[in-house]
Amino acid sequence: MTEAGGSSPLVKLEAVNKHFGALHVLKDIDLSVARGEVVVVIGPSGGGKSTLCRTINRLETIDTGSITFDDQRLPEEGKALAKLRSEVGMVFQSFNLFSHKTIMENVTLGPIKVRGVSRQQAEQRGLELLERVGIASQAAKYPAQLSGGQQQRVAIARALAMDPKMILFDEPTSALDPEMVQEVLDVMIGLARDGMTMLVVTHEMGFARRAANRVVFMADGQIVEQGDPDEFFTTPRTDRARDFLSKIL
Ligand code: ADP
Ligand code: MG
Repeated sequence: MTEAGGSSPLVKLEAVNKHFGALHVLKDIDLSVARGEVVVVIGPSGGGKSTLCRTINRLETIDTGSITFDDQRLPEEGKALAKLRSEVGMVFQSFNLFSHKTIMENVTLGPIKVRGVSRQQAEQRGLELLERVGIASQAAKYPAQLSGGQQQRVAIARALAMDPKMILFDEPTSALDPEMVQEVLDVMIGLARDGMTMLVVTHEMGFARRAANRVVFMADGQIVEQGDPDEFFTTPRTDRARDFLSKIL
């Protein structure tokens, strides 16, 4: 896997706190992701994993602390925020494709609307990306005509179409039938190998072991422990992580 090589991290969270009303969901989170690094975030439901992801592209604001992306404080609004959102792709559990648009339209809409790319260019690139995720033959179909695994691969192609500097994956395979999980993970493993910076919330240990540089275990709004994937899964250091792993493995 790619090493950080001394350059600054792509994302850096320092002492980040976030509340939803009285609920303290992110507690003094310090987390950096190096350029080209693949970080897997694992932990019990309600622990703050999705919120953590969403703070990075500013779908959620934070109360205190700081987040930098590519050496800049996260912008609050306007063009700078739109630029950030285009540089940080996001793939959700629920695919979130535009249901009344074709697969090709789903993949080309962002580049055309946000980047001002011509339709022809966007479609050429779109076809390449659909080929990369193994769906080129489905380009003219609508999302409902595809399987869940295919739809999630389209969602990944759509994120890639914006040439992101990073992609956040929030439980990308949790809504899939078991036989479709691997086809999505294989695409993600390919991205990791190609050097994409990725923050991946998942309980897929096989993915973590094959593709992650680091596993971060999060519970109750805190990073409880983090480290090398093989070490984490075989010899977790905290009772909390041991207890969690005994339930999912
Ligand atoms: P995870 O992804 O680890 O399951 P989340 O980040 O989704 O955890 O949620 C952390 C906590 O914050 C949970 O208790 C959840 O119910 C709560 N929460 C998440 N989003 C909101 C919201 N928009 N408003 C209020 N509470 C929320
Ligand atoms: Mg979540």
